[in-house]
Amino acid sequence: MEIYFDNCGTTKPSEIFTSHLSKFLLSDNYGNPSSLHRKGIQADKILQNSKKILASIFKCEADEIIFTSGATQSNNIAILGFASKFKNSNKNIITSSVEHPSVISTLYSLRKYGFEIIEISPRNDGDFYPEDFIEKINKDTIMISVMSVNNETGSILPIKEISDNAKIISPNIIIHSDIVQSLGKTDMKFYELKNIDIFTFSGHKLHSPKGIGGLIIRKNVKLSPIIFGGNQQNSIVPGTENLAYIHCLSLNLLNICDNIEKNINIYKNLYDYFIKNIDKYDFIKLGSFGKTVSHIINISVDKIHSEILVNFLSSHNIFVSSGASCSKGKKSRILKEFKLRKDELNSSLRISFSIYNTKEEIDIFFNIIDLAKRQILNF
Ligand code: PMP
Repeated sequence: MEIYFDNCGTTKPSEIFTSHLSKFLLSDNYGNPSSLHRKGIQADKILQNSKKILASIFKCEADEIIFTSGATQSNNIAILGFASKFKNSNKNIITSSVEHPSVISTLYSLRKYGFEIIEISPRNDGDFYPEDFIEKINKDTIMISVMSVNNETGSILPIKEISDNAKIISPNIIIHSDIVQSLGKTDMKFYELKNIDIFTFSGHKLHSPKGIGGLIIRKNVKLSPIIFGGNQQNSIVPGTENLAYIHCLSLNLLNICDNIEKNINIYKNLYDYFIKNIDKYDFIKLGSFGKTVSHIINISVDKIHSEILVNFLSSHNIFVSSGASCSKGKKSRILKEFKLRKDELNSSLRISFSIYNTKEEIDIFFNIIDLAKRQILNF
């Protein structure tokens, strides 16, 4: 038996995705959506239908959806594509201090063109306050980029309040949000998020395979291409579309979002059960990261280094992360932002659920953590 608690890192492709994928690949639907002949027209129909499905989820128009290889590519295209018009004109971009590297490193890369990158940290209670972002807006602010949920701590950032208030002060500011960790796992009301101009999403965090993701780009936003090629996807992401994955991603996401209330309930029950268990162990501490979602939990385990614990758990077929998967064991810049003590920083574990996890798995997890303490610390 394997227990997979690293669903922020990636997820197992769903039955819906894999069954539709094999059907699709074995069918005659191998045409290129840009071809003018009947096969091309048939492929384009499938592409347009997938966009229609996603538009119903994102409450946007079908032609506002662009497909990418994942969130890293989406974030780069959104930020660089928008900022490129403003090079060397002393503009600024406001962001949070806990963004994913695909946002923060992309923003830092703009410094050489004269951009100031203004980072807003959480307050002492671990929460982010909209007014801290809003008070930084000035006449040179062109963009605000803020994630919806942090991938290491599960902290919720107030993207609606930030975008609504920013647009009142300065309607021309473009708001971008990386919603990788909230889409399909929280109750996102897209019709209330009309002031967000660009969204980033990724398939593999939500039971699609790696290599597919996208952007919602509102009609009012003009991005310059950062990759050059044909005319596909308004020339923003040129290249032949990954039709099989696009088709299956849309069906998979539709199924997840149609069941969102049931799914949120699963996450909430898993969270409550996990928290109740923590109380039984005085050497395990729940991290304090302000308001958080139910599917991401960050804990620290007294006196055991995270990497040792990750390996110990792995040897018992339990898979968790010591921080973000992409940081591969480096000390977390995000946890430092939340002012964790050094010992907590060294011993932190991220548990991230999918709807397929169970309470029995949580029981086993705690038994193995208890075993780790006895074996590693000789208790
Ligand atoms: N943004 C966030 C918040 C993430 O958690 C991740 C993945 N860790 C990414 C972006 C990058 O996603 P992808 O692997 O699809 O490029």
